[in-house]
Amino acid sequence: MAIKKQQVVDALKQVIFFAKKDNIVDLHMIQDISIKGKEIKVTIVFEKLDDPAVGIIYNSVVKTLKKELGDDINVDVKPVGDENGPLAGVKNIIAVISGKGGVGKSTAAANLAVSLAKSGSKVGILDADVLGPSIPIMFGVEDGQPNVVEKKGKPVLLPLENYGIKILSIGFFVKPEQALMWRGSMANNAFNQLMTDSDWGELDYLVIDMPPGTGDIQLTLAQNYNIRGVVLVTTPQKVATADVRRAAMMYRQEKLTIPLLGIIENMSYFIPEDAPDKKYYIFGQGASDQLANELGIKILGRIPIEAKISETGDKGMPLSLVDGSPVTKAFAEISQKLKEEIARL
Ligand code: ADP
Repeated sequence: MAIKKQQVVDALKQVIFFAKKDNIVDLHMIQDISIKGKEIKVTIVFEKLDDPAVGIIYNSVVKTLKKELGDDINVDVKPVGDENGPLAGVKNIIAVISGKGGVGKSTAAANLAVSLAKSGSKVGILDADVLGPSIPIMFGVEDGQPNVVEKKGKPVLLPLENYGIKILSIGFFVKPEQALMWRGSMANNAFNQLMTDSDWGELDYLVIDMPPGTGDIQLTLAQNYNIRGVVLVTTPQKVATADVRRAAMMYRQEKLTIPLLGIIENMSYFIPEDAPDKKYYIFGQGASDQLANELGIKILGRIPIEAKISETGDKGMPLSLVDGSPVTKAFAEISQKLKEEIARL
């Protein structure tokens, strides 16, 4: 008996895209089904073709169709990328993480974004740190409100822009005094909107300033988005490196395996103004190197303790915008090393 399209559709409903918690038919991923005798060709749309789920779903489609329609059929699965997917124009999503607050994660994310932009890349920064969204202040856009426009019948957010960098923050939607009351799911919904209901356009890098530690947003990002890699920010103290190690391991679970691209050691040392050739390692030395060794990743760079970092951050102008400062140089090296690490993936 000839195979009917509906039989194929019914069988494909058994194939689940686990990260999206639904089957590939109801997720509208089936673009085309063609049947010629015992030859079945299924074209499946993925947001990104280098998603590890592509291989898993490919195998599952072949296995399920054979199980349901007979071992003698020939299945040809064609995965295609979604040209119009919300983040289709973003080449590299980089998550900046830390184990606990106050280590300089947001400062590092902001300066990394500036440094990548200065090297000629198109850059966006997304502030997902629901407990302390500080990116709008660092970029001087704290009074801004992103516009909402309609695209293909759907409302989309337009990121604000400063210094040539596109900026969105969870802080545009939540007042600081409310942040602590936000349920995980509310923050998660806001995060998803910032990621996919926004018009990021074409970007070489989307830097995400993640909340510290591990939580819902971290898991959502890891499971549902195609992140190129994770940058760890820590201070040199043992407690800080132990915390960031814990946060990083979430991205290295068996089924996720998102690359850890390296460590930024912040507040590494202090150079007194009156003794510029002296370095004081106030928070100690060695713990970040030990962590790097243990995880098999590099230290991308070390940032000194520098009062100007806070001052410029508070004035809405990340220090990396100022040519020639030691911090600017450190971040230029960090962004270069980061590019090398990405190229090696
Ligand atoms: P996190 O995002 O980890 O909570 P922030 O980036 O907000 O941390 O930094 C916390 C505070 O420390 C801010 O006031 C920031 O300006 C300051 N800071 C960060 N890095 C440095 C540094 N290298 N030298 C001096 N102050 C710093």
